[in-house]
Amino acid sequence: MMMTKNRNRMDGLWGLMVGDALGVPAEFKSRNKLRENPVTDMTGFGTHYQEAGTWSDDTSMTLATMDSLKHGIDYENMMKRFKEWLLYNKTYTPHGKVFDVGMVCRRAIMNYTHGFEVLKCGEDGERSNGNGSLMRILPAVLYVLKDEQTLDEEKVEVIHNVSRLTHSHPISLTGCGLYAFLVDELLKADAGEDVRTVLQRGIDRGFFHYENGSDKYQAAALWPYRRLEKLEDFEKLEEDEIQSTGYVVKTLEAALWCLLTTKSFKECVLKAVNLGGDTDTVAAVAGSLAGYVYGRGGSTGIPEAWLRQLSRYEWLEERVEAFERVLY
Ligand SMILES: [Mg+2]
Repeated sequence: MMMTKNRNRMDGLWGLMVGDALGVPAEFKSRNKLRENPVTDMTGFGTHYQEAGTWSDDTSMTLATMDSLKHGIDYENMMKRFKEWLLYNKTYTPHGKVFDVGMVCRRAIMNYTHGFEVLKCGEDGERSNGNGSLMRILPAVLYVLKDEQTLDEEKVEVIHNVSRLTHSHPISLTGCGLYAFLVDELLKADAGEDVRTVLQRGIDRGFFHYENGSDKYQAAALWPYRRLEKLEDFEKLEEDEIQSTGYVVKTLEAALWCLLTTKSFKECVLKAVNLGGDTDTVAAVAGSLAGYVYGRGGSTGIPEAWLRQLSRYEWLEERVEAFERVLY
């Protein structure tokens, strides 16, 4: 496939929200069950008994981060918004209620309420490498890349810190970092470029960054991602070799595999949802990247009908417009 024309920095955010909402009714469903009865459209009810278009924590925490960035990079402010979302005003929810939250994110937010230092709230155990920081990192990536800047050591460290609010293990930090390099390359790509070539550039830069970094502990965290090193081989893996769990490594793999093996936004996110497991987050991450490949509308882009089905669509538009102004 090729990069399409008319892509915008906000398309990844819209792709993320649509992917999240498509996955919500199928969360935790097995691949076998979904093979019998695949998701083919924006549907309601299912796992969390929510109406069609309902988005979850992936979108909520992304929106909270977007709003926070109007104050610049302020970790304290980001965490306060996560706390508000989870515990108090139910801000950033589709219908005034939090129905989905990852355990590691919840514990980090609780640590914050108990007075932990903000960058010490996220767990750093090897078992605490869920996809809860990857799913919400995109606004921070867009922020450090604003004014056509490129990722350097300092900016990658900002991405790591935004991950650390909930997920501090080097594997989680590396997952967010690799994703940032992928987004950087997708944003810079020209229309008509081969998508795999663009993504491979992101992977190469990401691997180079971590392999040559001063932090050996961080460099070692690249090892679990080694299957991504050569995308030409990676995309040939069979579906059985792709896991769609909440483990950050598997989520990034599944998202990229769906993107590399499909030819439109719709096909990509539906494939992600129908892998089963952590459907909403895998589809959110896949949707964010697919949003940058295909843009919005047209024959292969994010379907307008799905966008308009998102809960609180007008309010989401306001949030996205406000964030877009922060980037100028
Ligand atoms: Mg979710």
